[in-house]
Amino acid sequence: MKPLPEPTFDFVIFDSIVIGAFVGIALVLAHALQLDKPYWVPVSCLAVIQGSSLRAVWSKQLQRIIGTVLPDWGTVTLFLNDAFDPDAAQLAALEQRGVKVERTRMARIAGKADVILRDGRSYPMAGLFVVSQTLGSPLAEQLGCVLEEGPMGMYVRTDERKASTVAGVFCCGDAARIAGSVAFAVADGAMAGVAAHQSLVFGAVAAAA
Ligand SMILES: Cc1cc2nc3c(=O)[nH]c(=O)nc-3n(C[C@H](O)[C@H](O)[C@H](O)COP(=O)(O)OP(=O)(O)OC[C@H]3O[C@@H](n4cnc5c(N)ncnc54)[C@H](O)[C@@H]3O)c2cc1C
Repeated sequence: MKPLPEPTFDFVIFDSIVIGAFVGIALVLAHALQLDKPYWVPVSCLAVIQGSSLRAVWSKQLQRIIGTVLPDWGTVTLFLNDAFDPDAAQLAALEQRGVKVERTRMARIAGKADVILRDGRSYPMAGLFVVSQTLGSPLAEQLGCVLEEGPMGMYVRTDERKASTVAGVFCCGDAARIAGSVAFAVADGAMAGVAAHQSLVFGAVAAAA
């Protein structure tokens, strides 16, 4: 993992003011658009702006965040399945958001989305939200690209041009993000395409390893 930058004036004061201003603008816009849950707009804005510096927090809190955010879309049961052990504060937050916590391990999924537990009980669910592993192909590693570890698994380290640590190799989408979405994948793909073209014309520069 990259070391944290030195706490300079730019990093500590100026960045904080800029981030605060844009998060404030996001909240004002969300209210102006009369969105149902305007607070998610500045939260999402902050997540996008902060990018890499939120990695450590995401890694620790991902399970709880998923569990506490999902109730905005319906009734939620969080199946811990021995993958995560929430502390008292996390359990209180989940309870406060109306999330049912199930500790018994799953035996299998049946039917459309029926969760069958090892003790024989079953939960017929409308849908299942699963935290999956991102990097499905060994190609980048075989090429020698440096990988990073995030809460969703390994992903390829890239710079702002989506250049990997191997000159001439670019990577975009879920494979090169701590957590992805279609919008991010499309934007990253456009950036990687432009940068790959430029590298063919002006020469390839790798991201810092
Ligand atoms: C259940 C689920 C729901 C989601 N819902 C949303 C949503 O509502 N909104 C949203 O914005 N995002 C959503 N996402 C995330 C979104 O789907 C991804 O962020 C996005 O598809 C990433 O695009 P991508 O092109 O990077 O990767 P992918 O869409 O995964 O495409 C990668 C492709 O590469 C292929 N591939 C892999 N290895 C090789 C190889 N060696 N050779 C050739 N081909 C290979 C794979 O088969 C795949 O087709 C969801 C994801 C999941 C799993």
